[in-house]
Amino acid sequence: MSQLLSGQVALVTGAGAGIGRATALAFAREGLKVVVSDVDSASGEETVGLIRAAGGEATFICCNVTSDAEVKALVDGTVAAYGRLDYAFNNAGIEIEKGRLADGQEREFDAIMGVNVKGVWLCMKHQIPVMLAQGSGSIVNTASIAGLGAAPKMSIYSASKHAVVGLTKSAAIEYAKSNVRINAVCPAVIDTDMFRRACTSDPKKAEFAAAMHPVGRIGRVEEIAAAVIYLCSDNAAFTTGLALPVDGGATAI
Ligand code: NAD
Repeated sequence: MSQLLSGQVALVTGAGAGIGRATALAFAREGLKVVVSDVDSASGEETVGLIRAAGGEATFICCNVTSDAEVKALVDGTVAAYGRLDYAFNNAGIEIEKGRLADGQEREFDAIMGVNVKGVWLCMKHQIPVMLAQGSGSIVNTASIAGLGAAPKMSIYSASKHAVVGLTKSAAIEYAKSNVRINAVCPAVIDTDMFRRACTSDPKKAEFAAAMHPVGRIGRVEEIAAAVIYLCSDNAAFTTGLALPVDGGATAI
């Protein structure tokens, strides 16, 4: 039993693909009303179509999470559509081409920090007041195992995900007494478009990625969705400020 209540409202960013889409579908299967958000309207609408085809309720709101005005409109639009916001999964994120730190470009740094860090900050900035006003809420941010330790040739991405962990922990403490819990999921390598794009530029990557997980394979999007549902639910009522690795044992080595 997940203990999410049917009729509650969940918001998912980056829900047009991969982990975000799988989690939006999982929230809908729990009977929640889901606001599907993505910067890409076509893929976001497709996720809504999948939820509705399975008998669930969902609405799409287009949002680039790097824009304060768009994120405010997303949260306002969620409340306008469904009256409240119980759970937010701040998941939109981007990766960049791999390379050593000194080869990185300023525009790459700005782009990745804009989506992965500012985006998560803006989402929480606008979601938390709604949750405080209604007296409850739970937020999960997508970090990465690259936010828990070194990620050679991915230093900017790694720094951005460490920042997500920092935002998550600090906000969790700030609102701990207000019945608003804030946690992060830290996936290892998960089979998504992001991962497949990386394999195109380096075909050996699939083999290498499987081997870096003690369980001998990469993860599935549904396995991250299940962790998000757990963290949102009352089963995790005593859990806040956690950066939870979902990683096939990768960080245990
Ligand atoms: P994905 O590329 O399959 O999906 C990401 C989605 O985010 C896309 O639909 C994209 O349109 C959307 N998006 C990108 N920029 C956006 C923006 N500015 N505003 C709103 N939406 C935007 O990626 P994924 O693998 O599902 O990754 C989801 C999250 O998980 C990311 O934060 C990523 O860093 C993290 N993550 C992924 C892996 C992995 O192996 N796939 C591992 C660890 C962490």
